[in-house]
Amino acid sequence: MKLLLWAAIILAVIWILRSKKSAAKADNATPPRSTEGAAEAMLSCAHCKTYFPASEAVFDSSHTAFCCVEHRRQHAAH
Ligand SMILES: [Zn+2]
Repeated sequence: MKLLLWAAIILAVIWILRSKKSAAKADNATPPRSTEGAAEAMLSCAHCKTYFPASEAVFDSSHTAFCCVEHRRQHAAH
């Protein structure tokens, strides 16, 4: 019975250490995320000429950038 008690204590300590580690990781991950938008490249839509973040770009088969799927479709129809 004593062995079970020790096992429970050890498991509790491991669980507490793990939750502390993951909390510290989350804190470290926050600063780079906040600056993500500032350094992002901007692309111009081939259909409406609007500038938008490169991460939101929609590309066709010839690597032309569009702001949305709808404009890619409309551009291909011409
Ligand atoms: Zn567009």
